Amino acid sequence: MKDVSKFLSRRSFLTHTSCFGAYYALAQMIPLPALAETLGPQSNAASRVSQTPIVDKGFAVVRKIGNGLYATISDPSKGPTTLCNGGFLVGKDAAMLIEGFTTAGGAAFQMDALRMVSQVPVKGALDTHYHFDHSMGNAYYGANGVPLWAHANAAKRIVDSYSPLQGADKAAVLAPFEKLVKDAKNETEKAHAQSDLNAITTVYTIANGSVLGLPNRPIDPSKPTPVDLGGVTAVIESMPGHSGTDMIIRVPDQNVVYTGDLLFNGWYPVCFDEKATISGWRATLAKFAAMDKETVFVPGHGQICGQEGVATLREVFDDIAGQAEKMFKAGVPVAEAQQRYAVPDKFKNFPVFAWGFTIAPAIGKLYGEWQSK
Ligand SMILES: [Zn+2]
Repeated sequence: MKDVSKFLSRRSFLTHTSCFGAYYALAQMIPLPALAETLGPQSNAASRVSQTPIVDKGFAVVRKIGNGLYATISDPSKGPTTLCNGGFLVGKDAAMLIEGFTTAGGAAFQMDALRMVSQVPVKGALDTHYHFDHSMGNAYYGANGVPLWAHANAAKRIVDSYSPLQGADKAAVLAPFEKLVKDAKNETEKAHAQSDLNAITTVYTIANGSVLGLPNRPIDPSKPTPVDLGGVTAVIESMPGHSGTDMIIRVPDQNVVYTGDLLFNGWYPVCFDEKATISGWRATLAKFAAMDKETVFVPGHGQICGQEGVATLREVFDDIAGQAEKMFKAGVPVAEAQQRYAVPDKFKNFPVFAWGFTIAPAIGKLYGEWQSK
């Protein structure tokens, strides 16, 4: 098949370029596991995470995970209001929100949750990266005078990626993906192509339902940015891997890390971005693994986890790379290798957001790294 990931580049959107039916087809496959399944009761990390949420709307819950630290955890199977995870940090003097989410309603939901626990001024809201599910609700912050922080390249990437979709002819945007479904050589390829069509339809629908809100507080990725909220001190750091604009926010004295999409807990990682780097991402995960063993991680997607969530994503990358390397060495062409990857039993319940957003581009990028050696 054709490399679907290349359709996702900006140029392709411009040149090739509803309803939520496709979203729900996608999201049914993304249930959220219970907290107890991902934070073993034996770990000290588990004891720091409140079992009772401060608010539960179905599509997301907010729970306390430390002193002044809260996590917003989405359940995509209950609707696209938030879709990704986020959270907020609350000190004596100020608060910091994390993520713009998929909709302005998602950002408003999180602001309301913050106001249930504190009335301090909001210093800013951080998009951990530019992707639609983390940024399409940004306009809420703009309308409420909340400074919007993000990697210095994030604003441009939002404009380049999503403004071409706004007002674009839906049939023209979807046609190449519909063709791939129609031309699929077998049931496996058809299922892969259908998952891509569902994902593209979702992105198109959400982009067209949104007022784009752009970050106005660019963060220099070359050095850590300290954030002092009064008694709660965090640091924002740039790390490579998922999107070329990835920022984590870390609270060192409480061993809590909000990873954005550099950590998918119990999911296949989304690797389609033209700036995603598999070797860079694996190096970032090695850094997470070297952090304190009691670290609590708030991943970009999936349940709150400890180090076991990091270890599992590293195993997923090892498995993709292992299968791909065998095929590479056997001379299997990349397009065929991208279709032939088999999800092993131990990961069979892991959501695959769409084949052409996850496994196919991971294999394509790995082939690229090996070919350039
Ligand atoms: Zn992302």
